[in-house]
Amino acid sequence: MRFDVVTLSPELFEPLDRFGVIGRALRDGRVRLKTWNLRDFASPPHWRVDDRPYGGGPGMVLMAEPLWRAVRAAREEAPAGAPVIYLSPQGRRLDQRLVEELAGHPGLILVCGRFEGVDERWVESQVDQEISVGDFVMTGGEIPALMLLDAVSRLVPGTVGDEQSLVQESFQGGVLDAPVYTRPAEWRGHGVPAVLLGGHHGDIAAWRGTQGQERTERRRPDLVAPSPGSGSDTGPLGKDGK
Ligand code: SAM
Repeated sequence: MRFDVVTLSPELFEPLDRFGVIGRALRDGRVRLKTWNLRDFASPPHWRVDDRPYGGGPGMVLMAEPLWRAVRAAREEAPAGAPVIYLSPQGRRLDQRLVEELAGHPGLILVCGRFEGVDERWVESQVDQEISVGDFVMTGGEIPALMLLDAVSRLVPGTVGDEQSLVQESFQGGVLDAPVYTRPAEWRGHGVPAVLLGGHHGDIAAWRGTQGQERTERRRPDLVAPSPGSGSDTGPLGKDGK
């Protein structure tokens, strides 16, 4: 799986290969990452990447031409057909289902906005899908891109050591994960559910299933019976209709 990230802050992605399972996947080459600094695609003499919004208003807008050039360069190296994804609060909300869809691509080109956003003409003509990490506004698309990259990379075979942990995770099968415990069996007067200490795999699996179901109903009733207008199907459409 390869990620090409267009950003004004490539340095935010540099520490990634030093930590945890994603770091190991990057070092192993299971996951590949290349950042493209938007400033490298600006034009002389001013090397601007942003300008004031037409019609007035606060802030600056990223210009279409440097974005177009950066994505053109990324496309030349990215796997064929890698979709161009613009991280945007107005996009389809990222959830585990969308993460699974994205993991089916051999590559993704992620574009991080900044300031007041990016020139809409570039979005309309070049972006395959807009993706949001939630209904809140961040200062830039870099942290959203890192979230997406982390969640998708976990699904690349071999990234997570024990593949079973992917199956047991929250949202797998539409329910939250069961609670987990570790040693000691008694901690400051709090015990561990007896079934987990009994060693009976069938009973443990059944207990976990019930716990996950109950938690989901209590904490996330929307997952049990999605209400109209909620969930991942209702976000703004990408060019591919998702
Ligand atoms: N004016 C834009 C709006 O209201 O839709 C928000 C621009 S935001 C301050 C700057 C950049 O941060 C966006 O271009 C986008 O790339 C990124 N961003 C902010 N919130 C995001 C979110 N929830 N999900 C994904 N990207 C986000």
